[in-house]
Amino acid sequence: MGKPTGFKDYKRETTKEKPPIERINNWNEYTKRLSDAALQTQGARCMDCGIPFCHMGIEIRGTAAGCPIQNVIPEWNDLVYKGHWKEALQRLQMTNNFPEFTGRVCPAPCEGSCTLALNEPAVAIKSIERSIIDKGFENNWITPRIPLHRSGKKVAIVGSGPAGLAAADQLNHLGHKVTVYERADRAGGLLMYGIPNMKLEKQVVERRIKLLQQEGVKFVLDTEIGKDISPKVLVSRYDSVILCTGAQEQRKLRIDGSEAVGVHYAMDYLTGVTKSLLDSNFKDDLAIDVKRKDVIVIGGGDTGADCVATAIRQKARSVVQFGKHPQLPKTRLEDTPWPQDPNVYKLDYAYEEAKAIQGEDPREYCIQTQKIISDKDGCVKELHTIHMEKILGEDGFYYFKEIPGTERVWPAQVIFVAIGFDGVEKSLPLQFGVTVTNNRVKASARDFKTNVDGVFVAGDARRGQSLVVWAIKEGRAVAESVDEFLSSEVKK
Ligand SMILES: Cc1cc2nc3c(=O)[nH]c(=O)nc-3n(C[C@H](O)[C@H](O)[C@H](O)COP(=O)(O)OP(=O)(O)OC[C@H]3O[C@@H](n4cnc5c(N)ncnc54)[C@H](O)[C@@H]3O)c2cc1C
Ligand code: SF4
Repeated sequence: MGKPTGFKDYKRETTKEKPPIERINNWNEYTKRLSDAALQTQGARCMDCGIPFCHMGIEIRGTAAGCPIQNVIPEWNDLVYKGHWKEALQRLQMTNNFPEFTGRVCPAPCEGSCTLALNEPAVAIKSIERSIIDKGFENNWITPRIPLHRSGKKVAIVGSGPAGLAAADQLNHLGHKVTVYERADRAGGLLMYGIPNMKLEKQVVERRIKLLQQEGVKFVLDTEIGKDISPKVLVSRYDSVILCTGAQEQRKLRIDGSEAVGVHYAMDYLTGVTKSLLDSNFKDDLAIDVKRKDVIVIGGGDTGADCVATAIRQKARSVVQFGKHPQLPKTRLEDTPWPQDPNVYKLDYAYEEAKAIQGEDPREYCIQTQKIISDKDGCVKELHTIHMEKILGEDGFYYFKEIPGTERVWPAQVIFVAIGFDGVEKSLPLQFGVTVTNNRVKASARDFKTNVDGVFVAGDARRGQSLVVWAIKEGRAVAESVDEFLSSEVKK
């Protein structure tokens, strides 16, 4: 695969990023594709390692190793190297329903498992993936594929995130009539309202939804199952139902003062900003606006990073982000050996932007929030914190211990709470009568069946907050299981 000496001849090059100072002035994607010639060179770096760990797609001690959807990476690397873009697209579409999403937002566990990454920078797999699909759309190689055969069976999917969309795509092509119900006014789940426009432009999501519609998938928006339509009615109208409702139950901030005006959940902020951008280019004034305000983001994860980048684009006066855990190491640790994803320190897009404006990375590590103080009108005035150290206990578990004397007061007018999610919203699964354990709808990764006959579950609702690529994997797999179920129904 690739050029036999490519990995020695060429250096790694990935999707270009626009300069932070320039890109923060708009909401467009902050990345730009490499030229075809540069991508062919990158394809040439794939080294014919014999056993391509990059596409094995398993979890080792909770971390991903290789591509979860088993993209046949060495094959399309080779085809790109040889300039056979259309064939590369065909190979990519065999395993990935939506490479235009993963090629933009996947953290690329495949690259951590690349054999070249043992002692050289990995092959630029994600950059190549994105370019194959973008070229496919630009050259009109991707056109609606209308199923020739219809089974007469009907499937309802609740939730239009990547899991629901992947299941819909697969089942539609198997000949079943699919209807996707979504409570939001636009389809896409967190691809639409969650991941910000500068990471994934929303016309990319809309383009895919349109294609699915042209191929026969029906979308019913602004419709909440469990409120607008009861589970009983849904079950009576369809041969099978799949719950792909995500894991968006907000984790609450339980400190004094958290009810103050100016304290918001990160998802309310991110959703509101994207909606206002798409509806009116912010003319409706409906989004939370942090212009000239001091902003604190509580929570050190990716959702918090998206809040930082959004606040910067709104011209906040200052932005800091608090995380509970210590800074990640710069190089791979012994407890995450290759081919596991290395989980190392990265200067994500949001932090690069904050650094370009404020002069430093906005993250504060090992910090515990203690209380929020309001002014006389009940609006946030300041946040009190203390630093902690992470200690390994005698029982082998890690603990956090407050360090006396490290108390600090931070001025703020807006606080975003991005401390994660408490799993699936339980009301709907309970109305269906399906079992929820550990904040997830109970079903095995083998057949995705709940305890209610004909009702299946996939994506974050089953596995907890995860990644787009895992949601696609689950969507594909649940479709297989539902198809088997529907076929056995025919035989009865
Ligand atoms: C801010 C943020 C940024 C992220 N960034 C990334 C990233 O960069 N890369 C990455 O790989 N992953 C990212 N993730 C994670 C990723 O988006 C999720 O893992 C993925 O979207 C889960 O897909 P899903 O289809 O299971 O659910 P979701 O995408 O959550 O979709 C569930 C859908 O179900 C709908 N729904 C729920 N209940 C009902 C009901 N009763 N009736 C009708 N509709 C209903 C919801 O409105 C929603 O649209 C991010 C997550 C967040 C929160
Ligand atoms: S989907 Fe993610 S893990 Fe798979 S090849 Fe693409 S970037 Fe890598």
